[in-house]
Amino acid sequence: PRQFFVGGNFKMNGVTDSIKSIVKNINEAKRDPTTEVVIAPPTIYLALTRELADPSIAVSAQNVYDKPNGAFTGELSVEQLNDTKIAWTLVGHSERRVLLREDDDFVARKTKAAIDGGLSVILCIGESLEEREANKTIDVVTKQLTAVAERLSKEEWAKVVIAYEPIWAIGTGKVATTAQAQEVHAAIRKWLATISPEVAENTRIIYGGSVSDKNCRELAKENDVDGFLVGGASLKPAFVDIINSRL
Ligand code: 13P
Repeated sequence: PRQFFVGGNFKMNGVTDSIKSIVKNINEAKRDPTTEVVIAPPTIYLALTRELADPSIAVSAQNVYDKPNGAFTGELSVEQLNDTKIAWTLVGHSERRVLLREDDDFVARKTKAAIDGGLSVILCIGESLEEREANKTIDVVTKQLTAVAERLSKEEWAKVVIAYEPIWAIGTGKVATTAQAQEVHAAIRKWLATISPEVAENTRIIYGGSVSDKNCRELAKENDVDGFLVGGASLKPAFVDIINSRL
């Protein structure tokens, strides 16, 4: 009974006009009411998106800082998200891990700070192509998760959605096969059972990396695929078809 979850990560795309039309399209579309929908626009459009989006659609930041306030030029605080009615944040996206050198512990600290402040978190994890080819996928994702588990209580996992996003599948058009996704999701769930059986049973594990309206239905049939984190396709009308993967 895990609620199907579809997130749209706009990344650094969009300006006022295009964000308005993307949100309008999602608002007006016929959406599976059983899918939880969360959209993550660029920071500067968070408040606009919250204002425009239907109340049934949650809005997420793409990143947050781990300190409450102070001399941290360019960063965004948990309090600022709460103040502007943004209930979610992504943390640990591979683009931040790789391009901005965020390490596992920093990602874990941000996860903890966000949850302490009442936010829900989409925690992104995933391996590089090199790591996959060296058969290190499970080691890498387990290490990324362990850093977070060291900081969270069992109960706090209720505020986390895990997004498994293999780096080699992001923006490449090379989607993981249903078997590849299921294998890693099942391993993540098995690892979650070491925290508690409830955490394993209840935590949503969503897949990201070249998800499209063409491949979402097959992936959504896998037992441990509880939804998607969508990049490129979240900017297009096809996003609604992904929301409706299970219809
Ligand atoms: P794409 O869907 O563009 O491959 O991006 C996936 C992603 O990184 C979502 O966070």
